[in-house]
Amino acid sequence: MTITSQVITCKAAVCWKVGEGVKIEEIQVDPPKSTEVRLKMLCSSICHTDISSIQGTPMFNFYPLALGHEGVGVVESVGDEVKSLKGGDMVIPIFVGECKECENCISGKSNLCMTYPLSLTGLMPDNTSRMSGRGQRLYHPFSCATWSEYTVIDVNYLVKVDPSINPAHGSFISCGFSTGYGAAWKEAKVESGSSVAVFGLGAVGLGVISAAKMLGATKIIGIDKNDMKREKGEAFGMSHFINPSNSDKSSSALVKELSGGMGVDYSFECTGVGPLLTESLEATKMGTGKAITLGSGTEPYVPFDPFSILFGRILKGSIFGGLKSMSDLPIIADKCIKQEFPLQELFTHEVKLTDIEQAFELLKQPNCVKIVIEI
Ligand SMILES: [Zn+2]
Ligand SMILES: [Zn+2]
Repeated sequence: MTITSQVITCKAAVCWKVGEGVKIEEIQVDPPKSTEVRLKMLCSSICHTDISSIQGTPMFNFYPLALGHEGVGVVESVGDEVKSLKGGDMVIPIFVGECKECENCISGKSNLCMTYPLSLTGLMPDNTSRMSGRGQRLYHPFSCATWSEYTVIDVNYLVKVDPSINPAHGSFISCGFSTGYGAAWKEAKVESGSSVAVFGLGAVGLGVISAAKMLGATKIIGIDKNDMKREKGEAFGMSHFINPSNSDKSSSALVKELSGGMGVDYSFECTGVGPLLTESLEATKMGTGKAITLGSGTEPYVPFDPFSILFGRILKGSIFGGLKSMSDLPIIADKCIKQEFPLQELFTHEVKLTDIEQAFELLKQPNCVKIVIEI
C-alpha cells in the first residue's frame, strides 16, 4: 500500500466559466482521504458531455470546472481505509457505483445505485474538492476530473482492469461505448432475430450496434447525417444505413421502409437532439416497440408527440446503458482485451493534454469519432 501525504502540483484542463473555453492550468491535487485513491492518469478521451459542460447545461452549472470524465489511470496512492487497490493498479473511473446492497442494486431492475449515485454536485461524496487552481476550489464532472495529470476519486467509483488493456480502448469503455453497449445488452435486452435502429453513430451508437450484433439482431439500422459514419457502423455490425439528409421523409418513416412498414423492435436515441426522441419512438413497432434514450442535450425540455407512446410503445431512459459498474464493466473490459469489438475504429484523433484546445477543432472534422488525450 502506498500512502503519500503530499499535495501534487500538475497540469489540468480547466473551464473558468461558461463561454471561456478550456485552459491548461497548474493545479494542486490534494492527497486522498481515507476512502479515496489518487490516480496518475494515463490517457483520457472526449465525450459529448464534456462539450456540454463547457457550454453550460442544466447538468453543469458549477465553475471553475476541471474537465473530463472518461479515462484510464494508475493508482499513485490510496487512503488508509482502501484495501481493494494498491499503488500501480490500473483502473477505470466510473460515475455510478454499485454497492450491491441498496434497493436499486438488489432490484435486478436498475443500475442506479443509491449508496454511490451519479453525482451532479461537482464535488466528492463529502461535498469537498481535492483540486484547486489559482487559489480557488475546482469542481469536477461526476466522480472526478480526468483531463488532469493527477486526480482523486472515491474508491467506490473505480473498476480495476488488467494492465494489458490498451489504455485508449480502456478510456472508450469508461463511458460512451459502454453506455451504448449496455443499452442494447442490459437495458433493452435485445433478442436474437430482432430488429434495431440506432440514431447517431458516435461512440454510443457504435456501442449499441456492437452489442445488438453480439445478441443476434438480424437487422441493425444506423441513422446519421454524416455519410462517413456508414463505414464505422458496418465495422461494428450495422446492416443498413440511413442518411436522413438525403430524403424529405422523416427518419422514422425511412426506418419503417426498411422494416416491412412496421418499424423495429428496439430503437436507441444516442444524440440528445430533442426532436429525435419522438422519431426514435415512432420508428418502433406499434404495441411492442421499445425506445431507449441515451443522449443528453442542452435543452431543459424537448417537444414530444404523445401519440407515439399512446400506441403501446415504451420509452425508457438510461444512465451508463443500465450497466452495473462492478458486475458488468469488467465483462466489457475483458471483451475489450480479447478484441471482440473493433475499438480501434473509434480512435480517429489524438492530442496532448497541453494541446487540448486543438481537440475542439478536430471534433468538427467529419471523420472524427473519438479523440484520445495523451496525458
Ligand atoms: Zn461520457
Ligand atoms: Zn447500491
